[in-house]
Amino acid sequence: MIPWRSLIESCFFYTHIDGMFVMNTSQENKNIAKRYYPDLKLIIDGEYISRDGNPVINPSTGEAIAEVPFATIADLEKSVDAASKGFLEWSEMSPAKREGLMRDAASILRDRSDEIAQSITLEQGKPVAQSKVEIQRACEIIEWDASEGRRTYGRVIPSQMPLTHTVLRKPIGPVAALSPWNFPINSPGRKVAGALAAGCSIILKASEETPAGAFELVRAYHDAGVPPGVVNLIFGVPAEISEFLINSDITRLITFTGSIPVGKHLAALAAGQMKPTIMELGGHAPVLVDEAVDPVEVAKTCAIGKSRNAGQVCVSPTRFLVHNRIYDRFLDSFVEQANSLKVGDGFGDGIEMGPVANERRLNAMQEFINDATDKGATLSAGGHQIGNQGYFHEMTVLADVPDNARVANEEPFGPLAIVNKVASMDDAINVANKLPYGLAAYAFTNSAYVAEQLAHRVESGNLSINHLVASVAETPFGGIKESGYGREGGTEGLDCYTIVKNISHLTSTV
Ligand code: NAD
Repeated sequence: MIPWRSLIESCFFYTHIDGMFVMNTSQENKNIAKRYYPDLKLIIDGEYISRDGNPVINPSTGEAIAEVPFATIADLEKSVDAASKGFLEWSEMSPAKREGLMRDAASILRDRSDEIAQSITLEQGKPVAQSKVEIQRACEIIEWDASEGRRTYGRVIPSQMPLTHTVLRKPIGPVAALSPWNFPINSPGRKVAGALAAGCSIILKASEETPAGAFELVRAYHDAGVPPGVVNLIFGVPAEISEFLINSDITRLITFTGSIPVGKHLAALAAGQMKPTIMELGGHAPVLVDEAVDPVEVAKTCAIGKSRNAGQVCVSPTRFLVHNRIYDRFLDSFVEQANSLKVGDGFGDGIEMGPVANERRLNAMQEFINDATDKGATLSAGGHQIGNQGYFHEMTVLADVPDNARVANEEPFGPLAIVNKVASMDDAINVANKLPYGLAAYAFTNSAYVAEQLAHRVESGNLSINHLVASVAETPFGGIKESGYGREGGTEGLDCYTIVKNISHLTSTV
């Protein structure tokens, strides 16, 4: 007997195939959510707590897939008390034991990565393959930080006996962390790994829009045997929670990833309490392209890099500053690659770019594009929303964008690239440094001299030459200028979670 019903249903798995746009049905998305999306809870002092909250929206369909619980004031009070208790236990545990527990958490995440990737794609929209890479990166960071936590050495400063000076590096205390929606597991993963490796406890307020990544992260730490109270997870009204956590006597450090205006607001609140902060804020990454590179190949690499996470990355390459001798060939190749990207639901085969994460980003794209074209920019590719289900947007290329266009000055945080001409690499450096951002920068050149010039003169916390990877677990990542301060990753990242204490000891009383 032919199973007609399932045959018909399978034919409708991908209902919309229009050029390079591929979509699952809304029913198929619902089935995936039912099978994989976790039953979201707050996790405080090891307890899983249900509360009413807000819907979580799937950006591919615009439909609700779950409800994220919102913490009450009593929950917030409980979370700081738990972190205080957790800090005493965790900071006194041997670094070797802490490393073992953190590595066990990473193993659990690796074992669960196929399922977690489905949830991340459901809530954030990126293709499943990119969700898997994100989980893998989170695990690499946990493992690297876990090992490095055993090497937070102090110093002994030579002095006149019987006096000794010893510098200790101690965990700073309970940390309040606020993470965004663009990397649901990697962004909170970095914050939790850094804090735990240094011996701190943490209260994580992760994004209400993409809560499953953080939920799975914290669940893995608990399943690995990290004591209750060491890692606490809450959601709720962001402004209320951040104010509560910053004003609490228990928290000793605030770490935030998000937009510059929110970062400035939180830094000001923390200053009122004289609390240190780590601020990982927005960027507007320039890509400086020298005349002697292969414009076709470099442009392909750049267009693919721009499409990662639909451009919603603080280090996304955005301002392509291309030497005028190769400009036309670079632009043609970039446009060709942009037009050939396979866009659609993150569950579709071979999808390279998913939807933007929410309606705010979709509207922002349209506003940036209209403003730039009104002011004289050329729309070389894309420019429009795709379909009317979910939040899909074409990869958009704007050429010859004037300085007064909004997108030339404000981070687009979406699938939008600016490709402009420069007369020389000196010119490119001046344009790159003109904005108040300073997170990531990229360059393509075959000249060692130019590379050295760039290394010294481009104003950014990270510069990658001839590739588009801004950071790995063992390197420090963070910004200068309005892109923030403090670092995540590398030994510098762990230093941010410690204090330095100098012990001066006269070893004899006579
Ligand atoms: P937004 O400024 O409204 O919010 C940014 C983030 O901050 C969100 O996660 C939000 O929940 C949180 N937030 C807002 N007010 C807060 C408060 N008072 N206390 C604590 N948290 C608060 O912007 P958006 O529309 O969500 O995102 C777009 C902009 O955010 C982008 O232009 C980009 O600059 C920035 N962003 C940056 C990163 C990054 O990795 N640096 C990540 C996500 C968003």
